[in-house]
Amino acid sequence: MEEMMCYIPKTLEEALEIKSRHDVIVLAGGSDLMVSNKRTLGLAPKFDKPVMIVRNLPELRGIYINEEGECCIGAGCTSAQIAESTLCPWHLRQAASRMGAVALRNSATIAGNIANASPKGDTPGPLYMLDARVKLSSVSGSREILVSDFIVKFRTIDLRPDEMITEVIVPLSEDDFDYVFWHKVGTRKANAISKITLSQAIKFNADGTVKDYRVAATATGAKTNRSRDVESIIIGKRLSPELIEDVIKGFDDVISPRAMPEFRREATRRMIRRFLNVADTHPEGKVIDTYDGYYVVGQPEPRVL
Ligand SMILES: Cc1cc2nc3c(=O)[nH]c(=O)nc-3n(C[C@H](O)[C@H](O)[C@H](O)COP(=O)(O)OP(=O)(O)OC[C@H]3O[C@@H](n4cnc5c(N)ncnc54)[C@H](O)[C@@H]3O)c2cc1C
Repeated sequence: MEEMMCYIPKTLEEALEIKSRHDVIVLAGGSDLMVSNKRTLGLAPKFDKPVMIVRNLPELRGIYINEEGECCIGAGCTSAQIAESTLCPWHLRQAASRMGAVALRNSATIAGNIANASPKGDTPGPLYMLDARVKLSSVSGSREILVSDFIVKFRTIDLRPDEMITEVIVPLSEDDFDYVFWHKVGTRKANAISKITLSQAIKFNADGTVKDYRVAATATGAKTNRSRDVESIIIGKRLSPELIEDVIKGFDDVISPRAMPEFRREATRRMIRRFLNVADTHPEGKVIDTYDGYYVVGQPEPRVL
């Protein structure tokens, strides 16, 4: 029988203390780690360092709104928790509710999804788009950085050896926009790795010009893609077919999908075109989506499938 060194701290303070003294692998839901460290059938996964299990730390399981009105999500919150919490922004609830299947959503955590730094991870799309930050804590204090800076590149994150992600802070929500869009292109609505997920949001000024526009795509390059330069093409202007095509062209230059590139590019172009075209006609409701090939305006709250 092989032995494995495993720490199971009872408090966050204890966990950070362990992290400061030992070179450990932080294991939350384990849904990525158990797969990446798997061995042949019948053998338990093998880790080359001691493991520290943090999934049950109470300090990492809460969701609340802070004094600045930002949504603060504990690093250990699962996709199921996020999908069901009306405190969480709509785009993030959508992404969380379509991850894997029920069992996966009850173990996969938001910190694990971010730290895994996979371009196919579903939550970074909304998090990039909403300017979300991660709070990184150690025994010597904490710092906050944008999720889009924390994920440096494919499978690489800006995490010091003594740090852990303790919170994800999302400053914006659907309330900050007039129309929102989130869509996962996959073989099924859930329980399928994304071919693309696209997050969009737009707000208009009273005179009909665009006040704010955001677009972020996952699974379209080495990391999640967002470009403020492309978004700014329509800021302060009235939407027109020409401007919409400029945004589409600009975003097409930003993404760099490797597998099925033409499919991913064309699907992305169509989703941007549809969202901006429909938003421009100012329909009733807030949600513009393309489920089953038609628009659903004012779609009800997402359910955990
Ligand atoms: C069958 C299956 C289906 C899946 N479907 C999807 C899907 O549809 N969409 C999707 O996005 N993903 C999917 N995944 C991937 C995975 O479930 C997610 O990435 C999940 O969010 C990872 O979270 P976890 O808590 O399980 O991470 P873990 O496996 O515990 O950890 C993943 C990484 O994060 C680090 N980590 C975890 N917590 C912290 C912390 N607090 N501080 C610092 N580092 C930390 C770990 O050290 C490790 O490097 C799927 C996986 C499986 C096995």
